[in-house]
Amino acid sequence: MTEVSCKTGVELLMDYLEGAVQDDVRTLLESHVDGCPKCAAFIASYLATPRIVREATAAAMPPELQESLLAFLRAQRGG
Ligand SMILES: [Zn+2]
Repeated sequence: MTEVSCKTGVELLMDYLEGAVQDDVRTLLESHVDGCPKCAAFIASYLATPRIVREATAAAMPPELQESLLAFLRAQRGG
């Protein structure tokens, strides 16, 4: 691979954001994103997503699940 376009970039960005790309690929991506508002916006929205999902998940978590999770965490800490 010698070139990163938006099309290949978006696919690679998913790996990039998970830290799953080689250093040379990361360098190519970063230089592309530097000059590409579309990919920069994609990264920004991707980075914003996990927090939203986490909040939604926490809100949707049933009380009994929260309690068993807390019990698990307490057991881990005491373990
Ligand atoms: Zn791009």
